[in-house]
Amino acid sequence: MRCPLIRDVDDIVGIDLGTTNSLIGVMDSGFPILIADAGGARLTPSVVHFPSDGSPFTGQTAARMRTLKPAQTVYSIKRFMGLRGGELREKDTDVSYEIDRRRGQPVRVVANGHPYAPEEISALILQKLKSDAERALGRPISRAVVTVPAYFNDAQRNATKRAGELAGLTVERIVNEPTAAALAYGLDKLKDRSKIAVFDLGGGTFDVSILELNNGVFEVLATNGNTRLGGDDIDRALLDSISDTEHRTPESLARLLDALIAAKHRLSTEETVSLDLPFFDGSKNLHFDLGREELEKIARPIIEQTRAHCLRSLADARLAPADLDEVILVGGATRMPLVRNIVGEIFGREPNLSQNPDETVAIGATIQAGILSGAVRDVVLLDVTPLSLGIETFGGLMNVIIPRNSTIPIKAGEMFTTAVNHQRSMSIKILQGEREMARDNWPLGQFEIEFEPAPKGVARVGVQLEIDANGILHVLARDTKTGGEKTVEITTAVDVSDEAVEAMISESLDHAFDDMSERVWTEAKLKAEEMLGAVEAAFTRVGESIDPTEKETILSAAAKLREALDTNDTRRLQAANAVLDDATQGLAAAVVEKAMQAAR
Ligand code: AMP
Repeated sequence: MRCPLIRDVDDIVGIDLGTTNSLIGVMDSGFPILIADAGGARLTPSVVHFPSDGSPFTGQTAARMRTLKPAQTVYSIKRFMGLRGGELREKDTDVSYEIDRRRGQPVRVVANGHPYAPEEISALILQKLKSDAERALGRPISRAVVTVPAYFNDAQRNATKRAGELAGLTVERIVNEPTAAALAYGLDKLKDRSKIAVFDLGGGTFDVSILELNNGVFEVLATNGNTRLGGDDIDRALLDSISDTEHRTPESLARLLDALIAAKHRLSTEETVSLDLPFFDGSKNLHFDLGREELEKIARPIIEQTRAHCLRSLADARLAPADLDEVILVGGATRMPLVRNIVGEIFGREPNLSQNPDETVAIGATIQAGILSGAVRDVVLLDVTPLSLGIETFGGLMNVIIPRNSTIPIKAGEMFTTAVNHQRSMSIKILQGEREMARDNWPLGQFEIEFEPAPKGVARVGVQLEIDANGILHVLARDTKTGGEKTVEITTAVDVSDEAVEAMISESLDHAFDDMSERVWTEAKLKAEEMLGAVEAAFTRVGESIDPTEKETILSAAAKLREALDTNDTRRLQAANAVLDDATQGLAAAVVEKAMQAAR
Protein backbone atom coordinates (compact mmCIF):
# COMPACT_ATOMS: atom_id res chain seq x y z
CA MET A 1 0.00 0.00 0.00
CA ARG A 2 1.38 3.42 -0.95
CA CYS A 3 1.29 5.95 1.85
CA PRO A 4 1.10 9.70 1.54
CA LEU A 5 3.62 11.10 3.99
CA ILE A 6 5.95 9.83 6.63
CA ARG A 7 7.14 11.37 9.88
CA ASP A 8 8.73 9.81 12.91
CA VAL A 9 6.38 10.47 15.81
CA ASP A 10 4.96 9.38 19.10
CA ASP A 11 3.17 6.02 18.82
CA ILE A 12 -0.58 5.92 18.96
CA VAL A 13 -1.96 2.45 18.41
CA GLY A 14 -5.14 1.62 16.53
CA ILE A 15 -7.42 -0.99 18.13
CA ASP A 16 -10.41 -2.87 16.76
CA LEU A 17 -12.16 -4.04 19.92
CA GLY A 18 -14.40 -6.65 18.29
CA THR A 19 -17.24 -8.82 19.55
CA THR A 20 -15.43 -11.98 18.48
CA ASN A 21 -11.83 -10.92 17.86
CA SER A 22 -9.72 -7.87 18.58
CA LEU A 23 -6.66 -6.49 16.81
CA ILE A 24 -4.00 -3.85 17.40
CA GLY A 25 -1.86 -1.97 14.89
CA VAL A 26 0.68 0.81 14.64
CA MET A 27 2.07 3.01 11.88
CA ASP A 28 5.50 1.80 10.88
CA SER A 29 7.52 3.88 8.40
CA GLY A 30 4.29 5.27 7.02
CA PHE A 31 2.51 1.92 6.71
CA PRO A 32 -0.25 0.65 8.97
CA ILE A 33 0.83 -2.74 10.30
CA LEU A 34 -1.00 -5.14 12.60
CA ILE A 35 0.91 -6.60 15.52
CA ALA A 36 0.97 -10.34 16.22
CA ASP A 37 1.02 -11.89 19.68
CA ALA A 38 3.82 -14.15 20.93
CA GLY A 39 2.21 -17.09 19.10
CA GLY A 40 2.25 -15.19 15.78
CA ALA A 41 -1.53 -14.58 15.67
CA ARG A 42 -2.86 -11.15 14.78
CA LEU A 43 -6.44 -11.98 15.79
CA THR A 44 -6.93 -12.09 19.56
CA PRO A 45 -10.21 -13.77 20.54
CA SER A 46 -12.21 -11.29 22.67
CA VAL A 47 -12.53 -13.89 25.41
CA VAL A 48 -11.54 -13.75 29.08
CA HIS A 49 -11.29 -16.82 31.30
CA PHE A 50 -11.55 -16.51 35.08
CA PRO A 51 -9.87 -19.56 36.68
CA SER A 52 -11.12 -20.69 40.08
CA ASP A 53 -7.85 -19.45 41.51
CA GLY A 54 -5.26 -17.27 39.87
CA SER A 55 -5.51 -14.27 37.56
CA PRO A 56 -7.83 -14.09 34.55
CA PHE A 57 -6.29 -14.68 31.14
CA THR A 58 -7.33 -13.56 27.71
CA GLY A 59 -7.22 -14.47 24.02
CA GLN A 60 -6.59 -17.82 22.40
CA THR A 61 -5.90 -19.68 25.65
CA ALA A 62 -9.10 -18.29 27.16
CA ALA A 63 -11.09 -19.23 24.02
CA ARG A 64 -9.97 -22.85 24.50
CA MET A 65 -11.54 -22.84 27.98
CA ARG A 66 -14.94 -21.97 26.58
CA THR A 67 -16.05 -25.57 26.13
CA LEU A 68 -14.34 -26.81 29.32
CA LYS A 69 -15.48 -24.10 31.74
CA PRO A 70 -18.29 -22.20 30.02
CA ALA A 71 -19.52 -20.48 33.20
CA GLN A 72 -16.07 -18.99 33.85
CA THR A 73 -15.33 -17.91 30.29
CA VAL A 74 -16.67 -14.58 29.12
CA TYR A 75 -17.11 -13.88 25.39
CA SER A 76 -19.10 -11.35 23.27
CA ILE A 77 -18.79 -8.77 26.06
CA LYS A 78 -19.19 -5.98 23.51
CA ARG A 79 -22.91 -6.77 23.43
CA PHE A 80 -23.23 -5.55 27.03
CA MET A 81 -21.10 -2.41 26.90
CA GLY A 82 -22.93 0.64 28.26
CA LEU A 83 -26.25 -1.21 28.73
CA ARG A 84 -28.62 -1.37 31.68
CA GLY A 85 -30.62 -4.36 32.83
CA GLY A 86 -33.91 -3.32 31.24
CA GLU A 87 -32.29 -2.80 27.86
CA LEU A 88 -31.37 -6.43 27.31
CA ARG A 89 -33.43 -8.68 25.11
CA GLU A 90 -34.00 -12.32 25.95
CA LYS A 91 -31.53 -13.55 23.34
CA ASP A 92 -28.82 -11.21 24.64
CA THR A 93 -28.70 -13.10 27.88
CA ASP A 94 -28.32 -16.42 26.14
CA VAL A 95 -24.66 -16.81 27.09
CA SER A 96 -22.87 -19.55 29.02
CA TYR A 97 -21.83 -17.26 31.89
CA GLU A 98 -23.97 -15.54 34.50
CA ILE A 99 -25.13 -11.98 34.05
CA ASP A 100 -26.66 -9.65 36.56
CA ARG A 101 -29.33 -7.68 34.74
CA ARG A 102 -31.24 -5.80 37.39
CA ARG A 103 -33.56 -3.23 35.85
CA GLY A 104 -32.10 0.24 35.66
CA GLN A 105 -28.69 -0.98 36.89
CA PRO A 106 -25.65 -1.29 34.62
CA VAL A 107 -25.28 -4.89 33.41
CA ARG A 108 -22.65 -6.95 35.25
CA VAL A 109 -21.01 -10.24 34.35
CA VAL A 110 -20.58 -12.65 37.23
CA ALA A 111 -17.58 -14.98 37.22
CA ASN A 112 -16.64 -17.10 40.24
CA GLY A 113 -19.23 -15.15 42.22
CA HIS A 114 -17.56 -11.80 41.49
CA PRO A 115 -19.41 -9.13 39.47
CA TYR A 116 -17.50 -7.35 36.68
CA ALA A 117 -18.55 -4.35 34.63
CA PRO A 118 -18.40 -5.01 30.87
CA GLU A 119 -15.75 -2.31 30.58
CA GLU A 120 -13.57 -4.16 33.11
CA ILE A 121 -13.73 -7.28 30.93
CA SER A 122 -12.99 -5.23 27.81
CA ALA A 123 -10.10 -3.63 29.69
CA LEU A 124 -8.55 -7.08 30.19
CA ILE A 125 -8.72 -7.65 26.42
CA LEU A 126 -7.21 -4.22 25.78
CA GLN A 127 -4.45 -4.88 28.32
CA LYS A 128 -3.49 -8.06 26.49
CA LEU A 129 -3.35 -6.20 23.16
CA LYS A 130 -1.34 -3.42 24.77
CA SER A 131 1.23 -5.78 26.30
CA ASP A 132 1.55 -7.77 23.03
CA ALA A 133 2.23 -4.51 21.19
CA GLU A 134 4.71 -3.29 23.82
CA ARG A 135 6.58 -6.59 23.59
CA ALA A 136 6.68 -6.41 19.79
CA LEU A 137 7.69 -2.75 19.64
CA GLY A 138 10.01 -2.80 22.64
CA ARG A 139 8.55 0.41 24.08
CA PRO A 140 5.61 1.38 26.28
CA ILE A 141 2.32 2.46 24.74
CA SER A 142 -0.13 4.82 26.38
CA ARG A 143 -2.33 6.26 23.61
CA ALA A 144 -4.87 4.58 21.39
CA VAL A 145 -7.62 5.01 18.83
CA VAL A 146 -10.42 2.52 19.41
CA THR A 147 -13.20 1.64 16.98
CA VAL A 148 -16.89 1.17 17.82
CA PRO A 149 -19.96 0.38 15.71
CA ALA A 150 -21.27 3.58 14.12
CA TYR A 151 -24.58 2.94 15.85
CA PHE A 152 -23.11 2.80 19.36
CA ASN A 153 -24.84 5.42 21.50
CA ASP A 154 -23.21 7.82 23.92
CA ALA A 155 -23.30 5.41 26.87
CA GLN A 156 -21.69 2.63 24.82
CA ARG A 157 -18.97 4.99 23.54
CA ASN A 158 -18.24 6.20 27.04
CA ALA A 159 -18.01 2.63 28.33
CA THR A 160 -15.49 1.88 25.56
CA LYS A 161 -13.47 4.94 26.53
CA ARG A 162 -13.50 3.84 30.18
CA ALA A 163 -12.33 0.37 29.20
CA GLY A 164 -9.31 1.99 27.54
CA GLU A 165 -8.56 4.04 30.62
CA LEU A 166 -8.83 0.98 32.88
CA ALA A 167 -6.28 -0.72 30.63
CA GLY A 168 -3.90 2.21 31.06
CA LEU A 169 -4.58 3.75 27.65
CA THR A 170 -5.65 7.28 26.85
CA VAL A 171 -8.29 6.88 24.19
CA GLU A 172 -7.40 9.73 21.85
CA ARG A 173 -10.27 9.09 19.51
CA ILE A 174 -13.20 6.77 19.05
CA VAL A 175 -13.79 5.99 15.38
CA ASN A 176 -16.78 4.34 13.78
CA GLU A 177 -15.92 0.92 12.39
CA PRO A 178 -17.24 1.40 8.84
CA THR A 179 -15.44 4.74 8.64
CA ALA A 180 -12.22 3.05 9.69
CA ALA A 181 -12.79 0.43 7.00
CA ALA A 182 -13.25 3.19 4.42
CA LEU A 183 -9.94 4.76 5.51
CA ALA A 184 -8.20 1.42 5.00
CA TYR A 185 -9.83 0.99 1.60
CA GLY A 186 -9.19 4.55 0.45
CA LEU A 187 -5.69 5.29 1.72
CA ASP A 188 -4.05 4.37 -1.57
CA LYS A 189 -6.73 6.16 -3.59
CA LEU A 190 -6.29 9.65 -2.23
CA LYS A 191 -6.46 11.31 -5.62
CA ASP A 192 -9.79 9.63 -6.42
CA ARG A 193 -13.26 10.93 -6.11
CA SER A 194 -15.80 8.23 -5.40
CA LYS A 195 -18.83 7.24 -3.38
CA ILE A 196 -18.71 3.99 -1.50
CA ALA A 197 -20.85 1.94 0.86
CA VAL A 198 -19.21 -0.05 3.64
CA PHE A 199 -21.26 -3.09 4.65
CA ASP A 200 -19.90 -4.39 7.97
CA LEU A 201 -21.43 -7.57 9.40
CA GLY A 202 -19.45 -8.90 12.35
CA GLY A 203 -20.19 -11.33 15.15
CA GLY A 204 -22.57 -9.12 17.09
CA THR A 205 -23.11 -5.90 15.18
CA PHE A 206 -24.13 -4.64 11.76
CA ASP A 207 -23.25 -1.25 10.34
CA VAL A 208 -23.64 0.32 6.96
CA SER A 209 -22.14 3.67 6.02
CA ILE A 210 -22.15 5.65 2.82
CA LEU A 211 -19.05 7.77 2.27
CA GLU A 212 -17.72 10.20 -0.26
CA LEU A 213 -13.97 10.07 -0.86
CA ASN A 214 -12.63 13.22 -2.44
CA ASN A 215 -8.92 14.07 -2.62
CA GLY A 216 -8.12 12.69 0.82
CA VAL A 217 -11.32 13.92 2.47
CA PHE A 218 -13.41 11.01 3.76
CA GLU A 219 -16.88 12.31 4.36
CA VAL A 220 -19.55 10.09 5.85
CA LEU A 221 -22.84 10.93 4.16
CA ALA A 222 -25.08 8.61 6.16
CA THR A 223 -24.87 5.75 8.56
CA ASN A 224 -27.29 3.12 9.81
CA GLY A 225 -27.21 -0.26 11.48
CA ASN A 226 -28.11 -2.49 14.38
CA THR A 227 -25.76 -3.11 17.27
CA ARG A 228 -27.41 -6.46 17.92
CA LEU A 229 -27.31 -8.20 14.58
CA GLY A 230 -24.49 -10.44 13.42
CA GLY A 231 -22.97 -13.86 12.94
CA ASP A 232 -23.75 -14.76 16.59
CA ASP A 233 -27.47 -14.71 15.70
CA ILE A 234 -26.86 -17.25 12.96
CA ASP A 235 -24.96 -19.46 15.43
CA ARG A 236 -27.81 -19.31 17.94
CA ALA A 237 -30.43 -20.06 15.28
CA LEU A 238 -28.35 -23.03 14.12
CA LEU A 239 -28.04 -24.32 17.67
CA ASP A 240 -31.80 -23.95 18.25
CA SER A 241 -32.58 -25.80 15.04
CA ILE A 242 -30.45 -28.76 16.05
CA SER A 243 -30.66 -29.16 19.77
CA ASP A 244 -33.36 -29.14 22.41
CA THR A 245 -31.27 -26.75 24.47
CA GLU A 246 -33.16 -27.41 27.71
CA HIS A 247 -31.88 -30.95 28.08
CA ARG A 248 -28.22 -30.23 27.55
CA THR A 249 -25.52 -29.37 30.02
CA PRO A 250 -23.77 -26.02 29.55
CA GLU A 251 -20.59 -27.92 28.64
CA SER A 252 -22.22 -30.00 25.91
CA LEU A 253 -24.04 -26.95 24.53
CA ALA A 254 -20.79 -24.98 24.39
CA ARG A 255 -19.12 -27.90 22.59
CA LEU A 256 -21.97 -28.19 20.10
CA LEU A 257 -21.94 -24.44 19.48
CA ASP A 258 -18.20 -24.48 18.80
CA ALA A 259 -18.63 -27.34 16.33
CA LEU A 260 -21.51 -25.54 14.60
CA ILE A 261 -19.51 -22.32 14.26
CA ALA A 262 -16.60 -24.24 12.74
CA ALA A 263 -19.07 -25.95 10.36
CA LYS A 264 -20.60 -22.59 9.44
CA HIS A 265 -17.15 -21.27 8.54
CA ARG A 266 -16.37 -24.28 6.38
CA LEU A 267 -19.72 -23.98 4.62
CA SER A 268 -18.55 -20.64 3.22
CA THR A 269 -16.35 -22.63 0.85
CA GLU A 270 -17.77 -26.19 0.97
CA GLU A 271 -21.23 -27.52 0.09
CA THR A 272 -21.63 -29.98 3.00
CA VAL A 273 -19.75 -30.77 6.17
CA SER A 274 -19.88 -33.66 8.66
CA LEU A 275 -19.94 -32.97 12.36
CA ASP A 276 -18.51 -35.57 14.73
CA LEU A 277 -18.68 -35.13 18.48
CA PRO A 278 -17.41 -38.26 20.23
CA PHE A 279 -18.84 -39.02 23.71
CA PHE A 280 -21.22 -36.14 23.36
CA ASP A 281 -23.95 -37.47 25.64
CA GLY A 282 -22.03 -39.55 28.12
CA SER A 283 -21.03 -42.52 26.05
CA LYS A 284 -23.09 -41.57 22.97
CA ASN A 285 -21.43 -39.95 19.96
CA LEU A 286 -23.11 -37.23 17.96
CA HIS A 287 -22.79 -37.31 14.22
CA PHE A 288 -24.65 -35.42 11.52
CA ASP A 289 -24.19 -33.70 8.17
CA LEU A 290 -24.96 -30.06 7.53
CA GLY A 291 -25.41 -28.60 4.04
CA ARG A 292 -24.95 -25.04 2.89
CA GLU A 293 -28.54 -24.96 1.72
CA GLU A 294 -29.79 -25.81 5.22
CA LEU A 295 -27.51 -23.20 6.79
CA GLU A 296 -28.74 -20.58 4.32
CA LYS A 297 -32.37 -21.36 5.09
CA ILE A 298 -31.68 -20.64 8.76
CA ALA A 299 -29.44 -17.63 8.12
CA ARG A 300 -31.51 -15.87 5.44
CA PRO A 301 -34.09 -14.17 7.71
CA ILE A 302 -31.23 -12.85 9.86
CA ILE A 303 -29.19 -11.51 6.95
CA GLU A 304 -32.31 -10.09 5.29
CA GLN A 305 -32.61 -7.71 8.25
CA THR A 306 -29.66 -5.75 6.86
CA ARG A 307 -31.67 -4.75 3.79
CA ALA A 308 -33.84 -2.08 5.43
CA HIS A 309 -30.77 -0.46 7.03
CA CYS A 310 -28.97 -0.29 3.68
CA LEU A 311 -31.98 1.25 1.95
CA ARG A 312 -32.41 3.81 4.70
CA SER A 313 -28.77 4.86 4.60
CA LEU A 314 -29.00 5.29 0.82
CA ALA A 315 -32.14 7.39 1.25
CA ASP A 316 -30.45 9.50 3.94
CA ALA A 317 -27.47 10.10 1.66
CA ARG A 318 -29.94 10.91 -1.14
CA LEU A 319 -28.30 8.38 -3.40
CA ALA A 320 -29.53 5.52 -5.56
CA PRO A 321 -27.54 2.26 -5.61
CA ALA A 322 -26.31 3.16 -9.10
CA ASP A 323 -24.65 6.33 -7.75
CA LEU A 324 -22.19 4.24 -5.74
CA ASP A 325 -18.79 3.29 -7.14
CA GLU A 326 -18.09 0.40 -4.78
CA VAL A 327 -19.67 -1.63 -1.96
CA ILE A 328 -16.94 -2.77 0.43
CA LEU A 329 -17.51 -5.84 2.58
CA VAL A 330 -16.13 -5.91 6.12
CA GLY A 331 -16.62 -8.24 9.11
CA GLY A 332 -16.15 -12.01 9.37
CA ALA A 333 -19.76 -12.84 8.52
CA THR A 334 -19.42 -11.30 5.03
CA ARG A 335 -17.43 -14.42 4.10
CA MET A 336 -20.74 -16.23 3.75
CA PRO A 337 -21.76 -16.55 0.08
CA LEU A 338 -25.37 -15.80 1.07
CA VAL A 339 -24.34 -12.45 2.58
CA ARG A 340 -22.50 -11.58 -0.64
CA ASN A 341 -25.56 -12.52 -2.73
CA ILE A 342 -27.94 -10.45 -0.61
CA VAL A 343 -25.58 -7.45 -0.67
CA GLY A 344 -25.38 -7.87 -4.45
CA GLU A 345 -29.18 -7.79 -4.67
CA ILE A 346 -29.55 -4.75 -2.39
CA PHE A 347 -26.98 -2.62 -4.17
CA GLY A 348 -27.40 -4.07 -7.66
CA ARG A 349 -23.68 -4.80 -8.06
CA GLU A 350 -21.00 -7.31 -7.15
CA PRO A 351 -19.52 -6.34 -3.77
CA ASN A 352 -15.85 -5.38 -3.56
CA LEU A 353 -13.88 -8.10 -1.75
CA SER A 354 -10.51 -6.36 -1.78
CA GLN A 355 -10.36 -5.86 2.00
CA ASN A 356 -9.50 -8.56 4.51
CA PRO A 357 -12.80 -8.68 6.42
CA ASP A 358 -11.11 -9.36 9.76
CA GLU A 359 -8.34 -6.79 9.55
CA THR A 360 -9.56 -3.78 7.66
CA VAL A 361 -11.20 -2.01 10.65
CA ALA A 362 -7.98 -2.33 12.69
CA ILE A 363 -5.94 -1.04 9.74
CA GLY A 364 -8.31 1.95 9.54
CA ALA A 365 -8.01 2.57 13.30
CA THR A 366 -4.23 2.54 12.87
CA ILE A 367 -4.44 5.05 10.00
CA GLN A 368 -6.62 7.31 12.17
CA ALA A 369 -3.99 6.96 14.91
CA GLY A 370 -1.45 8.02 12.28
CA ILE A 371 -3.56 11.04 11.34
CA LEU A 372 -3.65 12.11 15.00
CA SER A 373 0.04 11.56 15.64
CA GLY A 374 0.99 13.30 12.42
CA ALA A 375 2.41 10.17 10.80
CA VAL A 376 -0.25 10.34 8.08
CA ARG A 377 -1.06 13.66 6.48
CA ASP A 378 -3.29 14.83 3.65
CA VAL A 379 -6.18 12.79 5.00
CA VAL A 380 -9.25 14.32 6.65
CA LEU A 381 -12.03 12.30 8.21
CA LEU A 382 -15.54 13.69 8.51
CA ASP A 383 -17.98 11.48 10.40
CA VAL A 384 -21.69 11.97 11.11
CA THR A 385 -24.10 11.73 14.06
CA PRO A 386 -26.86 9.14 13.68
CA LEU A 387 -29.70 10.95 15.54
CA SER A 388 -30.89 14.56 15.89
CA LEU A 389 -30.20 16.51 19.09
CA GLY A 390 -32.15 19.46 20.39
CA ILE A 391 -33.93 20.96 23.34
CA GLU A 392 -37.53 21.26 24.48
CA THR A 393 -39.09 24.65 23.86
CA PHE A 394 -42.41 26.33 24.70
CA GLY A 395 -45.43 24.17 24.16
CA GLY A 396 -43.45 20.93 24.49
CA LEU A 397 -41.94 21.16 21.03
CA MET A 398 -38.67 19.55 19.98
CA ASN A 399 -36.30 22.21 18.73
CA VAL A 400 -33.60 20.47 16.69
CA ILE A 401 -30.18 22.06 17.08
CA ILE A 402 -28.02 19.38 15.45
CA PRO A 403 -29.89 17.41 12.77
CA ARG A 404 -29.31 13.68 12.23
CA ASN A 405 -26.45 12.79 9.86
CA SER A 406 -24.62 16.08 10.56
CA THR A 407 -20.87 15.91 10.12
CA ILE A 408 -18.98 15.73 13.42
CA PRO A 409 -17.27 17.31 15.26
CA ILE A 410 -20.03 19.89 15.25
CA LYS A 411 -21.09 22.83 17.39
CA ALA A 412 -24.44 24.52 16.96
CA GLY A 413 -26.46 26.82 19.13
CA GLU A 414 -29.56 28.88 19.42
CA MET A 415 -30.80 31.75 21.53
CA PHE A 416 -33.81 31.24 23.78
CA THR A 417 -35.86 33.66 25.84
CA THR A 418 -38.27 33.54 28.77
CA ALA A 419 -42.00 32.92 28.50
CA VAL A 420 -43.04 34.46 31.84
CA ASN A 421 -42.42 37.86 33.46
CA HIS A 422 -39.67 37.94 36.11
CA GLN A 423 -38.68 34.39 35.46
CA ARG A 424 -35.54 33.62 37.48
CA SER A 425 -34.40 30.42 35.86
CA MET A 426 -34.84 28.35 32.79
CA SER A 427 -34.87 24.61 32.64
CA ILE A 428 -32.94 23.19 29.71
CA LYS A 429 -34.00 19.74 28.65
CA ILE A 430 -31.72 18.04 26.13
CA LEU A 431 -33.41 15.61 23.77
CA GLN A 432 -32.37 13.11 21.17
CA GLY A 433 -34.67 11.80 18.48
CA GLU A 434 -36.60 12.47 15.34
CA ARG A 435 -40.09 13.30 16.62
CA GLU A 436 -41.72 16.74 16.55
CA MET A 437 -42.99 16.72 20.14
CA ALA A 438 -40.46 16.70 22.98
CA ARG A 439 -42.29 13.97 24.93
CA ASP A 440 -41.76 11.46 22.09
CA ASN A 441 -37.98 11.91 22.08
CA TRP A 442 -35.45 10.67 24.62
CA PRO A 443 -34.43 12.97 27.43
CA LEU A 444 -30.63 12.96 27.70
CA GLY A 445 -30.41 15.31 30.63
CA GLN A 446 -31.88 18.40 32.20
CA PHE A 447 -30.40 21.33 34.09
CA GLU A 448 -31.35 24.80 35.27
CA ILE A 449 -29.72 28.07 34.34
CA GLU A 450 -30.41 31.06 36.57
CA PHE A 451 -30.53 34.73 35.62
CA GLU A 452 -31.67 38.14 36.87
CA PRO A 453 -35.46 38.51 36.77
CA ALA A 454 -36.67 40.64 33.85
CA PRO A 455 -39.87 41.09 31.85
CA LYS A 456 -40.60 38.09 29.67
CA GLY A 457 -38.67 37.97 26.43
CA VAL A 458 -35.83 40.11 27.82
CA ALA A 459 -33.55 37.45 29.30
CA ARG A 460 -31.54 35.70 26.63
CA VAL A 461 -29.99 32.31 27.07
CA GLY A 462 -27.71 30.81 24.47
CA VAL A 463 -27.67 27.04 24.34
CA GLN A 464 -24.88 25.34 22.47
CA LEU A 465 -24.63 21.64 21.75
CA GLU A 466 -21.32 20.20 20.74
CA ILE A 467 -20.59 16.67 19.58
CA ASP A 468 -16.87 16.07 19.84
CA ALA A 469 -14.83 13.94 17.47
CA ASN A 470 -15.64 10.85 19.60
CA GLY A 471 -19.37 11.38 19.18
CA ILE A 472 -19.76 12.50 22.82
CA LEU A 473 -22.11 15.37 23.60
CA HIS A 474 -21.24 18.53 25.57
CA VAL A 475 -23.87 21.14 26.39
CA LEU A 476 -23.25 24.78 27.22
CA ALA A 477 -25.90 27.26 28.37
CA ARG A 478 -25.04 30.93 28.82
CA ASP A 479 -26.99 33.91 30.14
CA THR A 480 -25.94 36.54 27.60
CA LYS A 481 -26.45 39.44 30.01
CA THR A 482 -24.33 38.29 32.95
CA GLY A 483 -22.15 35.85 31.05
CA GLY A 484 -23.08 33.22 33.69
CA GLU A 485 -22.79 29.80 32.12
CA LYS A 486 -23.16 26.13 32.77
CA THR A 487 -21.43 23.29 30.94
CA VAL A 488 -22.65 19.75 31.11
CA GLU A 489 -21.12 16.67 29.61
CA ILE A 490 -23.80 14.14 28.89
CA THR A 491 -22.17 10.90 29.85
CA THR A 492 -24.97 8.41 30.01
CA ALA A 493 -26.83 9.91 27.15
CA VAL A 494 -29.24 7.54 25.52
CA ASP A 495 -30.54 5.31 28.27
CA VAL A 496 -32.41 3.26 25.73
CA SER A 497 -31.74 0.21 23.63
CA ASP A 498 -30.43 0.29 20.10
CA GLU A 499 -33.63 -1.24 18.81
CA ALA A 500 -35.30 1.79 20.26
CA VAL A 501 -32.95 3.97 18.20
CA GLU A 502 -34.11 2.22 15.07
CA ALA A 503 -37.71 2.24 16.23
CA MET A 504 -37.38 5.98 16.79
CA ILE A 505 -36.45 6.57 13.17
CA SER A 506 -39.20 4.39 11.77
CA GLU A 507 -41.75 5.85 14.22
CA SER A 508 -40.77 9.33 13.12
CA LEU A 509 -41.65 8.31 9.57
CA ASP A 510 -44.89 6.56 10.61
CA HIS A 511 -46.02 9.52 12.70
CA ALA A 512 -44.67 12.23 10.44
CA PHE A 513 -48.11 13.49 9.49
CA ASP A 514 -49.65 13.48 13.01
CA ASP A 515 -46.49 14.92 14.53
CA MET A 516 -46.40 17.73 12.02
CA SER A 517 -50.10 18.55 12.61
CA GLU A 518 -49.48 18.66 16.34
CA ARG A 519 -46.48 20.95 15.85
CA VAL A 520 -48.47 23.31 13.59
CA TRP A 521 -51.33 23.38 16.13
CA THR A 522 -48.95 24.04 19.03
CA GLU A 523 -47.18 26.81 17.15
CA ALA A 524 -50.51 28.46 16.26
CA LYS A 525 -51.64 28.13 19.89
CA LEU A 526 -48.44 29.74 21.18
CA LYS A 527 -48.88 32.57 18.71
CA ALA A 528 -52.54 33.04 19.77
CA GLU A 529 -51.63 33.14 23.47
CA GLU A 530 -48.84 35.61 22.83
CA MET A 531 -51.10 37.92 20.79
CA LEU A 532 -53.93 37.82 23.33
CA GLY A 533 -51.47 38.75 26.09
CA ALA A 534 -50.00 41.54 23.96
CA VAL A 535 -53.46 42.97 23.14
CA GLU A 536 -54.34 43.12 26.83
CA ALA A 537 -51.05 44.84 27.68
CA ALA A 538 -51.49 47.32 24.81
CA PHE A 539 -55.03 48.25 25.91
CA THR A 540 -53.74 49.11 29.37
CA ARG A 541 -51.00 51.31 27.93
CA VAL A 542 -52.69 53.07 24.99
CA GLY A 543 -56.35 52.01 25.33
CA GLU A 544 -57.78 55.58 25.47
CA SER A 545 -56.14 56.68 22.25
CA ILE A 546 -57.78 53.90 20.21
CA ASP A 547 -60.84 54.62 18.10
CA PRO A 548 -63.90 52.83 19.67
CA THR A 549 -64.86 51.03 16.40
CA GLU A 550 -61.30 49.79 16.01
CA LYS A 551 -61.36 48.67 19.65
CA GLU A 552 -64.62 46.81 18.97
CA THR A 553 -63.08 45.03 15.94
CA ILE A 554 -60.05 44.01 18.02
CA LEU A 555 -62.18 42.74 20.93
CA SER A 556 -64.37 40.71 18.60
CA ALA A 557 -61.29 39.23 16.80
CA ALA A 558 -59.80 38.39 20.21
CA ALA A 559 -63.04 36.70 21.32
CA LYS A 560 -63.11 34.64 18.10
CA LEU A 561 -59.50 33.65 18.70
CA ARG A 562 -60.31 32.48 22.24
CA GLU A 563 -63.15 30.37 20.82
CA ALA A 564 -60.80 28.89 18.21
CA LEU A 565 -58.37 27.96 20.98
CA ASP A 566 -61.05 25.72 22.48
CA THR A 567 -61.44 23.74 19.26
CA ASN A 568 -58.93 21.37 17.79
CA ASP A 569 -59.17 23.03 14.44
CA THR A 570 -55.74 24.24 13.35
CA ARG A 571 -56.99 26.03 10.22
CA ARG A 572 -59.60 27.95 12.23
CA LEU A 573 -56.99 28.93 14.79
CA GLN A 574 -54.54 30.07 12.11
CA ALA A 575 -57.30 32.10 10.41
CA ALA A 576 -58.33 33.69 13.72
CA ASN A 577 -54.66 34.53 14.40
CA ALA A 578 -54.45 36.25 11.03
CA VAL A 579 -57.65 38.28 11.66
CA LEU A 580 -56.44 39.49 15.07
CA ASP A 581 -52.98 40.21 13.66
CA ASP A 582 -54.61 42.35 10.96
CA ALA A 583 -56.95 44.10 13.36
CA THR A 584 -54.13 45.11 15.71
CA GLN A 585 -51.87 46.90 13.19
CA GLY A 586 -53.04 50.30 14.43
CA LEU A 587 -52.80 49.27 18.07
CA ALA A 588 -49.22 48.04 17.56
CA ALA A 589 -48.30 51.34 15.87
CA ALA A 590 -49.80 53.27 18.82
CA VAL A 591 -47.70 51.26 21.29
CA VAL A 592 -44.52 52.00 19.32
CA GLU A 593 -45.47 55.70 19.07
CA LYS A 594 -45.99 55.89 22.83
CA ALA A 595 -42.67 54.18 23.52
CA MET A 596 -40.90 56.64 21.23
CA GLN A 597 -42.53 59.58 22.95
CA ALA A 598 -41.36 58.25 26.28
CA ALA A 599 -37.84 57.87 24.96
CA ARG A 600 -37.67 61.48 23.65
P1 AMP B 1 -15.96 -10.15 13.37
O1 AMP B 1 -16.83 -9.60 14.48
O2 AMP B 1 -15.79 -9.23 12.22
O3 AMP B 1 -14.68 -10.76 13.86
O4 AMP B 1 -16.80 -11.35 12.73
C1 AMP B 1 -17.04 -12.51 13.45
C2 AMP B 1 -18.19 -13.25 12.83
O5 AMP B 1 -17.83 -13.70 11.53
C3 AMP B 1 -18.53 -14.47 13.64
O6 AMP B 1 -19.94 -14.61 13.70
C4 AMP B 1 -17.91 -15.57 12.84
O7 AMP B 1 -18.58 -16.81 13.05
C5 AMP B 1 -18.11 -15.08 11.43
N1 AMP B 1 -17.17 -15.69 10.48
C6 AMP B 1 -15.82 -15.68 10.53
N2 AMP B 1 -15.33 -16.39 9.50
C7 AMP B 1 -16.37 -16.86 8.80
C8 AMP B 1 -16.52 -17.69 7.62
N3 AMP B 1 -15.46 -18.18 6.99
N4 AMP B 1 -17.76 -17.95 7.19
C9 AMP B 1 -18.85 -17.47 7.84
N5 AMP B 1 -18.78 -16.70 8.94
C10 AMP B 1 -17.55 -16.40 9.42
